Amino acid sequence: MRKILLILAAVALALLPAAPTLAKNGAKTITCVYCSGTGEVSCAYCIGGGKVNCNYCQGSGTVKCVYCDGSGRVRCEECLGKGYTYENGAKVECRKCKGAGSYDCSLCEEGKMPCGVCLGSGKLKCVVCDGYGKVKCTVCAGTGQMKLE
Ligand SMILES: [Zn+2]
Ligand SMILES: [Zn+2]
Ligand SMILES: [Zn+2]
Ligand SMILES: [Zn+2]
Ligand SMILES: [Zn+2]
Repeated sequence: MRKILLILAAVALALLPAAPTLAKNGAKTITCVYCSGTGEVSCAYCIGGGKVNCNYCQGSGTVKCVYCDGSGRVRCEECLGKGYTYENGAKVECRKCKGAGSYDCSLCEEGKMPCGVCLGSGKLKCVVCDGYGKVKCTVCAGTGQMKLE
């Protein structure tokens, strides 16, 4: 009978609310006020979003096309930009650029191409929180509990 009572007492102790409680060394602990007991706080580097602006393209997702230097037009190499060539001594309109001397850059759109660093998204995973958006609370070392000294 006495054994059963001991078991019941142990169960009752286990069911007691966790905080505030007495730690083994007798120090009082309270829920961490900095992280509200979650043990995690919003990442300051990405403001909790888990992503930061790509610094290579300043978050725009596009960079200047290196092929046409952002102009969107490429000088025609057939006629060297003149718009005409000579055939059997006669001046003829360049077939490649149809006399324009340049043509639309095939590698980009209006001088812009997707940023290769962020693959056009303009965002990169936050390296501080590894894209999670939250970091371990430094005040309570992630335990969610603070000791009252
Ligand atoms: Zn281009
Ligand atoms: Zn041409
Ligand atoms: Zn980028
Ligand atoms: Zn972050
Ligand atoms: Zn905390």
